[in-house]
Amino acid sequence: MTDDAIGGRAEHGDWWPPDPIQMPAPFVWPPRPVAVFKWLFGFPGYLWPLTSFYLAIALVTWFFLTPDLASMRSFEPGWMAIIFGRNLALTVLIYGSLHLYLYVLEGQGTNFKYNTRPQATKSRAFLFGHQVRDNIFWSLAGGVTTWTAYEAVTLWAFANDLLPFNDWAANPVWFVALLALIPIIHAVHFYVAHRLLHWRPLYDGAHYLHHRNVNPGPWSGLSMHPLEHLLYFSGVIIYWVIALHPIHALFHLQFVALAPALGHCGFARIVVGGDRTVGLNTGFHYLHHKHFECNYSGEVLPVLDKWFGTFHDGSEAAHARLKERLARR
Ligand SMILES: [Zn+2]
Ligand SMILES: [Zn+2]
Repeated sequence: MTDDAIGGRAEHGDWWPPDPIQMPAPFVWPPRPVAVFKWLFGFPGYLWPLTSFYLAIALVTWFFLTPDLASMRSFEPGWMAIIFGRNLALTVLIYGSLHLYLYVLEGQGTNFKYNTRPQATKSRAFLFGHQVRDNIFWSLAGGVTTWTAYEAVTLWAFANDLLPFNDWAANPVWFVALLALIPIIHAVHFYVAHRLLHWRPLYDGAHYLHHRNVNPGPWSGLSMHPLEHLLYFSGVIIYWVIALHPIHALFHLQFVALAPALGHCGFARIVVGGDRTVGLNTGFHYLHHKHFECNYSGEVLPVLDKWFGTFHDGSEAAHARLKERLARR
């Protein structure tokens, strides 16, 4: 299927879906139970399948790819290297496979790609003059290192009984509810941190680096200034207070580290075969990369932007409102 069938292209090649971005069903009044069910379980789905996919990775890594807690009572290089290695491998696997399929093999060409221009090469804005290599560098050197550091400190604290460690059976309802709430907890933390990053000194000192990716690809997701990484992953500190078990912190960190690959992939839909495509819910954050001063929250909680008057749904009316707001500054 080509994108002409759904949506259309502007003269300069940008493709846009036909309908404005909708508020997620739980935030629409009057309540629409069927739509809420679809929001929870229809692709990309708040609970299934995407969040469950990341949760499955967290469970596998906790049970099979995390050293024994008893061995993590002091900061030994051995166990920290294991965690760094598996985080590096997860990043390369998720970001690399999306990039390989969409940009190297060009699995669906430019169908449903927001911006048809290729990722920048020979550009002085990027390290090595190359957007993808620059993005990979910041993601691996800064992103994986900061993620691993937060994880190591958290696991070290659990190992030393500085944080309460309970078996899931001790409070199964809260254990499962907290797992389900993690994308929302991240979305709130992300919104606050992101608004802070758009404060001029922090934007000029750090966040500009992420925003060079006006035409993002998967590797742009975790490509940030180290100061932004420090703030971005700091949401895990919440679990130092409310977690029952290291799996909550592990899942939060992995979700935060890995989900931006799809969120920044640059495509609105994935062609899954023949005429079948699935929407990716990427338009909301794409508009932030394109216009900067709108859609500061993650795609899970665009209602925060609605409440604070910065929601852009991709329509001309929303764009006129953005311009008016910027003119008033
Ligand atoms: Zn971004
Ligand atoms: Zn931003």
